[in-house]
Amino acid sequence: MSKLFANYARLDVAFEYGIGCHLYDTHGKKYLDFLSGIAVTSLGHSHPKMVEALKEQVSQLLHVSNLYKIPQQEKAAEKLVELSGLERVFFCNSGAEANECLIKMARKYAHSKGLPPSLVVTHNGFHGRTLATVSATGTPKYQDGFQPLVAGFQFVEYNNLQETLAALENCCGVLLEPVQGEGGVIPADPAYLKAVEKACIEQGKLFLLDEVQTGIGRTGHWLAAHHYEVSPHAVSLAKGLGSGIPVGAVLATEELSSLMGPGTHGTTFGGNPLAARAVSTVLETIENEGLRENAAEQGEYFRSKLLQLEGVQEVRGVGLMLAAVTLQPAKEVAQACLEGGLLINAVRDNVLRFVPPLVVSRQEIDQAVSILSVALEQVCVSAE
Ligand code: PLP
Repeated sequence: MSKLFANYARLDVAFEYGIGCHLYDTHGKKYLDFLSGIAVTSLGHSHPKMVEALKEQVSQLLHVSNLYKIPQQEKAAEKLVELSGLERVFFCNSGAEANECLIKMARKYAHSKGLPPSLVVTHNGFHGRTLATVSATGTPKYQDGFQPLVAGFQFVEYNNLQETLAALENCCGVLLEPVQGEGGVIPADPAYLKAVEKACIEQGKLFLLDEVQTGIGRTGHWLAAHHYEVSPHAVSLAKGLGSGIPVGAVLATEELSSLMGPGTHGTTFGGNPLAARAVSTVLETIENEGLRENAAEQGEYFRSKLLQLEGVQEVRGVGLMLAAVTLQPAKEVAQACLEGGLLINAVRDNVLRFVPPLVVSRQEIDQAVSILSVALEQVCVSAE
């Protein structure tokens, strides 16, 4: 009997090692990894640049406190500022922590401006599992049993401009995913995002984006904000930022970051030399190997192949963050794919999510589509 908490419904498979877009289980079976640890391993497994950089960093210095200067953090922050257009960076350990920082910063902002200290958030969104982020997460199954929740969130329907603008009147800003990930890979309507940004700017309110899943190349851009041509006051990042090393970050304007002076916020581990070195290596590799361009190109190719599959009713998403709406139960299809050697997951009863590493090739997409095609047929047959 496992001595672990039973909070995950784990599948009966364990992986021993990975190379590129492939994982190998403890029996030596090879899988195409189109889950990437849920949009994390952006460079694929065992990328030579990561292996080299992390080996060197491990042998030099793993951790020092944020009481001291950390040059690796300064370097990673410079690059993040350059690529994002934002001005300041705070490093933490996860997506939920990055969103906690955004929420705390929004409250500081509200108090400094005399605005209501609440944020507009969306039904069907996902911002993490800490108490504040789960309170901002508009899906009851994540909140059930954890009441009382943290106050200060007003829920609106995603992509509903009228509702969002009405709620904004009693709030200091919005916190939105540019593409809802856990909610089923639902992209924001471009006109909606632009109009919300405009309203926030006109009213002196905060336009905050949760780019934990969409950020760092996943959509074919450094940020999904660039895809939508909007300029948030701050964004949260994690997942692909460390390609497997746990690290999160908040990027913010100078003005917003200045609210978080000494002692207001902090973390023991956030941005330690190992994590910060991973961030710089990920950013450099994405740039040097043209992985944003690859994500955009392969994403389009993958979308076109998915649309040709029988049983696929709709394909949605941006870049290499895609979903297929199926006639078949998605969980059963994902299980059949696992047996066929392809790792994907179901984000809704009839929605499959695909978030392969950004290094994925056309040939690997062809292989994945062929395994998926067989799985769709199998589930169809067994459901009859
Ligand atoms: N925000 C979004 C959009 C996410 O997709 C996730 C995780 O799936 C989170 C926040 C939480 O990130 P973490 O699990 O690293 O705390």
